[in-house]
Amino acid sequence: MSPQPDPSVLSFEEARRAVEEQASRVSPNGTETVDLLNAAGRVLAEPVDADRDIPPFPRSTRDGYALRSGDARQLPRMFKVIGEIRAGENPDLLPALAGPGQAVSIMTGAPVPVGADAVVMVEYTSRQGHRVEIARSVAPGENVVPQGAEARAGGLLVDRGARLNDAAIALAASAGRATLNVYQRPRIAVLTTGDEIVGVEATPGPTQIRNSNSYSLAAQIVAAGGEPVLLPIAPDETATLRRLIEQGLQSDLLILTGGVSMGRYDLVEQVLAELGAEFFFTGAKIQPGRPVVFGRIPCGAGTCGAGTLARQGASVPPGHKHFFGLPGNPVSTMVTFELFVRPLVEALAGMAPRKLAFLHTRLASEIRVKTGLTRFLPAILSGEFEKSQVQLVPWQGSGDIAATARANCYVVIPPDREIIAAGEWIAVIMR
Ligand code: AMP
Ligand code: MG
Repeated sequence: MSPQPDPSVLSFEEARRAVEEQASRVSPNGTETVDLLNAAGRVLAEPVDADRDIPPFPRSTRDGYALRSGDARQLPRMFKVIGEIRAGENPDLLPALAGPGQAVSIMTGAPVPVGADAVVMVEYTSRQGHRVEIARSVAPGENVVPQGAEARAGGLLVDRGARLNDAAIALAASAGRATLNVYQRPRIAVLTTGDEIVGVEATPGPTQIRNSNSYSLAAQIVAAGGEPVLLPIAPDETATLRRLIEQGLQSDLLILTGGVSMGRYDLVEQVLAELGAEFFFTGAKIQPGRPVVFGRIPCGAGTCGAGTLARQGASVPPGHKHFFGLPGNPVSTMVTFELFVRPLVEALAGMAPRKLAFLHTRLASEIRVKTGLTRFLPAILSGEFEKSQVQLVPWQGSGDIAATARANCYVVIPPDREIIAAGEWIAVIMR
C-alpha cells in the first residue's frame, strides 16, 4: 500500500487560503492620533472625506487662453484678450467672457472664468498686444477639470483600513487633515530556536550560527506594519521552549523559527501541541519552506496576555492567539513570512485584505525542476521597459542568504511544471 498523503500538508493555494481565512477574523488593537508627517506606512482607522469639492472650481490644467470652444472652429482667428487670471486669484475679480471672440489669459491651476469652456495651450497661440491669434481648435472641456470632478464635498477620499502611501497622504493634506487617527501597530513576537544559534554580538564557536532570522523577520514585520518583539533564543529543550512560547503569546502574534522539521530535536510542534494548539497546517507543498506551520492556541490560565482576536461577532473564540512555526533555514524563513505571515500581520495592523500580487515577465534561461511543489526561487528581474526578463540567482539552497540578498524577486514555478523554456512568460513576486 502506498503511503497516504498527510492531510495537514497543504498546497500553496490551500495554505494561503487558510491564512487569509484566519486573517479575516482578527482585528487591530486600539487607535492613536499621529501627525500627517508621521503617518506614512500607518493604517487609517477612520475614513478621510473631502471637506469641499476637488477641484473647488473648474481648474485650468495649462497655461494658455480660456475661451468658448465654439468660437475657435474657423482657424486661425484673432481673439480679444479681456483679462488675465492667475492661480489663487480673488474670485470676485475674475473677468467673465461676455461675448464671442473673447479670451482670457490663464495660468495652470487658475479658475476658468464664467463663459469659457476650454483652454487653448499657450504653445498654439501668438499674442499681439490686447489680441491673441489662436491657431488650434479645442474640444469643449479640453484642458479644464470641472469643479468636483475628482471628488465631491463629503465624498470618501481614503477609506479606513488603507495603508497610508504618498497619494493617500496627499489626499489627507488636501482635505486639511493635519492629524490622522490610525491603528496601533500590532506587537509581533519573534522566537528563534536552535541549540546552535547564538546572538549577533557573540563570537560563534566553530559549529555555531549567528541568529539572522530574528533580524530579517523584524525587518519584514516593520515593512508589514507591525512592531517586532524579539525574545531570547530558545534552546532545543522543551521546558525553556515552553516558557518562551508562553512569553511570546503575550504579543498579538507569535512567530517561531527553526525546530519544525522532522529531526529528533525539532520540538516546536510538540510543545505547541502540549499547550493545546490547533494546527491549520503543518506543512505546505512549497520550496523553500515546506515544513511551515500555522495554528492558534487557546489563551486560558495565563498563557496569553489580553486577547486582541476577540472582535465582536467574530467566530474566533476570545483569547485565541495565532502562531507560525517557520523553518529555520534563513531563505525559508523570509519566503514563508512573505507568503503566509504577512496577511495576518497586516490584518492585525487593521489593513483591508489584499491578494498576493504576481507580476509576469519573460524567463531568460530554461529552468528544470521536479514537479510536486510550488517553488519561489530567488531571481533577478532586469532589463529595460519592454525588454525586462528574469533569471534565477545561482544558490546553495534555502540556507543561502548571500544569493537571496542579490535577488530582487522570487520566480514562482507552478507544481506541475518540469521544464520552463527560455522566453516563456513566468510569474514573479517582488521582494
Ligand atoms: P531548523 O529549521 O531548526 O532545522 O534549522 C534549519 C537550518 O537553519 C539550520 O542550518 C539552522 O542552523 C539554520 N537556522 C535556524 N535558525 C536560524 C537563525 N535564527 N538564524 C540563522 N540560521 C538559522
Ligand atoms: Mg533547529
